[in-house]
Amino acid sequence: MTFEPSRAAAIEKLSIFIENGLLNYSKSRNFDYGPEKRSNISCLSPYITHGVINEQEVIDACLKKYSFIKNEKFIQEVLWRIYWKGWLELRPKVYSDFINDLKKIKNDFKDNKNYLNALEGKTNVECFNYWVNELKSYNYLHNHTRMWFASIWIFTLGLPWQLGAEFFMKYLYDGDAASNTLGWRWVAGIQTKGKQYLASEWNIKKFTDNRFQNIKLIESALPIIDERSYEIKKIGLQNNQIKDEKILLLFENSLSFESSDFRNQTFKKIYLISNNNKNREIQLSEKVINFKNNLQHDQIQSLRKNKIDCEILDIDQIKNIDENFYCIYPNVGENLSYLNSIGIKNFEYLYRKIDQFSWQYCNKGFFNFKNCIPKIIQDFI
Ligand SMILES: Cc1cc2nc3c(=O)[nH]c(=O)nc-3n(C[C@H](O)[C@H](O)[C@H](O)COP(=O)(O)OP(=O)(O)OC[C@H]3O[C@@H](n4cnc5c(N)ncnc54)[C@H](O)[C@@H]3O)c2cc1C
Repeated sequence: MTFEPSRAAAIEKLSIFIENGLLNYSKSRNFDYGPEKRSNISCLSPYITHGVINEQEVIDACLKKYSFIKNEKFIQEVLWRIYWKGWLELRPKVYSDFINDLKKIKNDFKDNKNYLNALEGKTNVECFNYWVNELKSYNYLHNHTRMWFASIWIFTLGLPWQLGAEFFMKYLYDGDAASNTLGWRWVAGIQTKGKQYLASEWNIKKFTDNRFQNIKLIESALPIIDERSYEIKKIGLQNNQIKDEKILLLFENSLSFESSDFRNQTFKKIYLISNNNKNREIQLSEKVINFKNNLQHDQIQSLRKNKIDCEILDIDQIKNIDENFYCIYPNVGENLSYLNSIGIKNFEYLYRKIDQFSWQYCNKGFFNFKNCIPKIIQDFI
């Protein structure tokens, strides 16, 4: 399993998945057959996270092959990402609390043997150790494995979920503030209050095709308690009339301008914002930083092919832009936190149409959101 850092590779992965995996996706998606046998799932998340290929393109290509009914489960999964994002946008304090808690917990656990062994894959749980190494080698884990991993981390190893969420962000090519933070909260039993996810030996054996033995886990435990509740924030997602003579900034979530809502607009210049570890609360591994940088270079090449003036700009330099500019909205996460921290006012955000529409349905649970999926398909695909 490799993730070549280019839009061409993303498009190819999508078309291979549509041919080989899509039809049986709902039946086979929960099986993790190992890193070299991933044809039952798309492995598109490293690309979708970075906007190298977007949700509409993915769904559109699937609907060209099969009917909505045959695609329904896959489409729901693709739209989970937008749901999690919208959920977090409405409650951004969940993210800032996570980051603040993490700073304190990291200090408390810096010499904790249990924690240090988990980071090195040296625990008593053989499958967990294997997944630690798989994550570091491939920078990807299957969804079901992420659930087992997080559950073992929290309930068998007794470690704080925030440290696990940080560990995932550091190594995952698809590391995403919303899907990751909320995925960990969900396993802990905080996201759906009182409903924790407990990994079990039989389930791991069945869905890994018996690849692991001796899986001794704590299979019954109470959910993690977090008494904080979060009010829903009113968010204005209006796009004003776009004026040609301004600069546009693309962050790491928008790395395919040519497939974006703004592709027919001209901009004075496009800057691709690079954010290496200096301005991140969570330090990413070298491989993840390289993956992001390579995706940016791929985007630069395709913009230049289209004769668009563009350049990579370090995030520190944004405050030196002495004219008005636009940014495609970077979503709650490291880049937005940085922008908020420098206190500049000479820019406007541009929002994706699909987010403008969908996020209004993210105030409640996913079941509620599911009802608007036909409308999303009708209006945006
Ligand atoms: C603890 C935990 C942490 C996670 N952290 C991340 C993360 O940092 N970044 C990330 O992109 N996903 C995260 N996920 C969600 C999910 O595991 C991955 O999106 C999925 O495994 C990606 O593999 P795929 O592309 O083959 O998915 P497929 O099964 O082929 O699904 C297609 C697409 O649907 C979306 N999707 C599928 N499942 C989910 C889900 N549960 N939540 C949100 N979107 C989903 C993804 O964009 C994915 O590419 C996390 C899940 C858990 C339980």
